[in-house]
Amino acid sequence: MTRSRPAIVTGVIDLAKRLRALPADRKMLSVYLDTSPGRLFGEAYRLAFRDAARVVRDQVSESERELFDRAVEDVRATLEDLPVTGRGLAIFWTGEELLAAPVPAPVLDEVAWGSGPLLAPLQRVIDDQERVALVFFDAAHTRIVTVALGEVETEVAFDDKSVPPRQAAGGWAALSQSRYARHREDHLRRRAEQTIEALTEMLRDAPFDRLILAGPEEPMALLRRLLPRPLAQRLVAVKPMEWFASEAELLRTVSETATEVERERELAVVNELVDAGGVGRSVLGLEATVAALNDARLAQLVISDVPLPEGGQCVACEVVTTGRETCPRCGGPLEPVASLNGPMIAQALRTGGRVEVVAGAAATRLAEHGGVGGWTRY
Ligand SMILES: [Zn+2]
Repeated sequence: MTRSRPAIVTGVIDLAKRLRALPADRKMLSVYLDTSPGRLFGEAYRLAFRDAARVVRDQVSESERELFDRAVEDVRATLEDLPVTGRGLAIFWTGEELLAAPVPAPVLDEVAWGSGPLLAPLQRVIDDQERVALVFFDAAHTRIVTVALGEVETEVAFDDKSVPPRQAAGGWAALSQSRYARHREDHLRRRAEQTIEALTEMLRDAPFDRLILAGPEEPMALLRRLLPRPLAQRLVAVKPMEWFASEAELLRTVSETATEVERERELAVVNELVDAGGVGRSVLGLEATVAALNDARLAQLVISDVPLPEGGQCVACEVVTTGRETCPRCGGPLEPVASLNGPMIAQALRTGGRVEVVAGAAATRLAEHGGVGGWTRY
């Protein structure tokens, strides 16, 4: 392997798939690095790699040292040009190539040398992500795809060529048309049951959080009716789709559905807040919310993604204010801010509150009440 060969950068799920496909007895260098913002200064994560590799080297047998050193040098060189886009970074030197993926969750620094890749930290991250199962189902085809982190994780498909067509062929006498329809219905039902069996098995092996049904209307309605409780509870949408839809179309449907579900959840959050009307433990509007924030009373800040008015923040005591003259608490000078969203969110997090940023219809509804509000601790 030469220095000029760049790393193949992919997603964590694709990375895990590629690693599993490699021969298990091959010597590999597995590297996980914490690349959270605090580690970027002075390239701390690169130093961490060098230190960890040095420790591991002492345990590598004499006969493998040369190979190990080459692997470390390849990874080191790759780290120089690889942009950091995740909370963590996973890099594997496989003897033939370098595979890398940004990791969307924090990981601990880890360097391992041995036969086959060190997969456990990667698998832990993947398991923690929300997983969506999308099921296409009609009289002839079943296709089940699970998606996590915007990547297809698993795909199961089974076809049935013995499906009776909608219209009976000439051989069926008029008398038996109704029998034929029942025959077709039984067939569809059997296929639906098979599909549910496959889904249930999947739920056991690699649990998914949400379920989307996709396909023509009649089979979808039947499948939906037959869903057992654990599957019905996860159902979030029924969408039209063709069985031959491309992977890109599947992923788009999953991501659009996720956005719809999220927007609905946000709207419910805002509706509850607006209905509470700013009394009791609810606050509504800019002035009331700023006051609760500055008293460190806010348990949850609900804030629109639309810019709020300008304001100021005290240089000395960090109080957030809609005024622009002096700090209402200590009289100190204010730092002007173009929009209060950022300082309010920071203040809420600093005082131990949760933050819900809402968009779309929820933001529009909240805008009628000052664009911000929340729930206080007492
Ligand atoms: Zn102040």
